[in-house]
Amino acid sequence: MSMRDVKLCLLGDSGVGKSSLVMRFVTDSFKPALESTIGASFMTKTVEVDGNTYKFQIWDTAGQEKYRALAPMYYRGAAAAIIAYDVTRESSFKSVKSWVQELRHQGHPNIVLAIAGNKCDLEDLREVRLKDAEDYAKQIDALFCETSALTAVNVADIFTKICKKLPSEDF
Ligand code: GDP
Ligand code: MG
Repeated sequence: MSMRDVKLCLLGDSGVGKSSLVMRFVTDSFKPALESTIGASFMTKTVEVDGNTYKFQIWDTAGQEKYRALAPMYYRGAAAAIIAYDVTRESSFKSVKSWVQELRHQGHPNIVLAIAGNKCDLEDLREVRLKDAEDYAKQIDALFCETSALTAVNVADIFTKICKKLPSEDF
């Protein structure tokens, strides 16, 4: 039994549901009208996976371009990053690729990357195919889930997957 702090940051376009994902994970709730994030917000959540305790320190960044220059403050030193897109917005999936490039160049070399295709409850409005996103994630060796902060589907799972993939030396 051991305890581990995990600094994690959420990245992705504004409106894809980053804050809603964090709220679902931390408080298991959904508020349809969250205020949009200014700069970044911070929350913690402790989970147990395979008999180990992980204390997530979650930095939820704002997606707007004007805050983009601040992002390195949050992903530097992060053990994991979740890059979120909205399955109903193709442009938000394109942005995932630019975040991945940036993290590969500026982030910690061992950072665990996870991609979350959020709003998978909106199947009728889908613009990003599941297979395309899965293939991309596999190609870059990132974890992947389609999630819904609204219905809670796969939200805890993505954090569990991250725990399992963290390098184990610290234990
Ligand atoms: P952020 O800018 O990435 O932090 O996005 P927010 O969490 O503020 O969410 C943006 C909008 O998308 C809000 O109106 C949310 O209620 C909505 N939203 C977030 N997650 C979901 C989801 O999984 N499904 C649906 N249908 N709407 C969502
Ligand atoms: Mg937000």
